Amino acid sequence: MCGAIEGHSRANAGGRVTVDLAALRANYHLIAGLCAPARVAAVLKADAYGLGVGPVADTLTGAGCREVFVALFQEALDLRPRLPGHVAIYVLNGLAAGEEASCAAAGVMPVLNSLGQARRWRDTAESCGRPLPAALQLDTGMSRLGLPLDDLDALLADAAFRAAAPIALLVTHLACADEPAHPANTAQLETFRAAAARIAPAPPLSIANSAGVTLGAEFAGDVVRAGIGLFGIAAKSPLQGRLRDVATLEARVIQVRDAPAGAGVGYGLTYTTPGPRRLATLGIGYADGWPRHLGGGRATAWFGGHRLPVVGRVSMDSMTVDASAVPHHLLQEGDHVELIGSNASLEVVATAAGTIPYEILVGLGPRLQRVYRRAGPPAGDRP
Ligand SMILES: *Cc1c(COP(=O)(O)O)cnc(C)c1O
Repeated sequence: MCGAIEGHSRANAGGRVTVDLAALRANYHLIAGLCAPARVAAVLKADAYGLGVGPVADTLTGAGCREVFVALFQEALDLRPRLPGHVAIYVLNGLAAGEEASCAAAGVMPVLNSLGQARRWRDTAESCGRPLPAALQLDTGMSRLGLPLDDLDALLADAAFRAAAPIALLVTHLACADEPAHPANTAQLETFRAAAARIAPAPPLSIANSAGVTLGAEFAGDVVRAGIGLFGIAAKSPLQGRLRDVATLEARVIQVRDAPAGAGVGYGLTYTTPGPRRLATLGIGYADGWPRHLGGGRATAWFGGHRLPVVGRVSMDSMTVDASAVPHHLLQEGDHVELIGSNASLEVVATAAGTIPYEILVGLGPRLQRVYRRAGPPAGDRP
């Protein structure tokens, strides 16, 4: 029979990312409880941090989330038909020239980041003949995105802008939210509040990302923009230990061999077996987002509680682990071993790779199968 190619190819991917949607929902409710009465918006840029924006967005809107942020207009366009009409979608990276009319037509709100963007949005609203709400971001000290405060007077003096583009949300972003004692946090908050006080009618405020949630109630504003926290990461914050892990990464064993002492392994033969070893080759490499830096024993896979150190260099599509610790009959071609999960947390793997959990998550490539686990899903909560 030759009718099931698609099903086979996914199950035989080099690895799989399992996304626990029940944990995602629990994290949303935990963060929402902490932030109340502020609402929690979901930041779903970069395919929901690599986990698959469709099922993630469905789960979160099903749990009550009413605001979603993405980075790009294209991400908003892809998401818009999937989400209920009452869910607002904001584009963090601003309003690119030429996309104004499609943005308005799609019912997507830009985060206006400059006077030029604000004026183009005003003109679009005037030619559409109806007010077009948008978010406005102020740069309060990060120098990345947002209207420089020196330009706020000019914007507020523009009566046509105020009539055409009601400010649905006034946004700023903290540079040091993950360092609670950093003086920039309160400095940015005060700058933001002073600027907001000049805008009438008073718009709803949005300041904190996930880390900002734990800085204090005054940072919550009206809408918190949570990304990584929803996915279980809460470095150095009081949320640590209370959020549930959402993502696990497993690699498929694509070959097992018994190597004699003195066998060289992988490109450059940088590893030589010190004695007879059982080696397993895994179907994940740096093309799938597993950092090449994590070769040479800097990370381990896990199987049934046994450590399987990565030996030699990570290749593009595979890497080799020393599976000698596993009783021989237990590990076979086609089995899956854990790379990120209960034994090796995302934070531990990121630290070993010299990076942050965000970069590992968004790097997990499209060749990996995504498996969505849901326990007791409410109606409508499916990809
Ligand atoms: C990515 C991003 C967020 C979400 O940050 P997390 O640390 O993942 O919670 C919030 N706001 C802005 C402006 C962002 O770019």
